[in-house]
Amino acid sequence: MMNCRKVQQLVTEYLENAIGPVRRARFELHLRLCRSCEVHVEKMAELVRTLGRLPPDTEVPEDLIRHFKDWVEQGPHSPQEEER
Ligand SMILES: [Zn+2]
Repeated sequence: MMNCRKVQQLVTEYLENAIGPVRRARFELHLRLCRSCEVHVEKMAELVRTLGRLPPDTEVPEDLIRHFKDWVEQGPHSPQEEER
């Protein structure tokens, strides 16, 4: 079982389709079981989409940046999700 920290590490690669099918399946399984990560990955996907759509000198919505930074610094909150 992939833990929250691993999901956090892989989220960028996941969104860029840069992880293999096995890891991808484990990642998605974790998202189905862990509401906290699911929400955060959705936010990240939104951020990536927003960044990809905007011209390079456009300002990114601050709440998205803040949300992402908080997540990276603190980690997702799900202490019961330990690697087994
Ligand atoms: Zn999780």
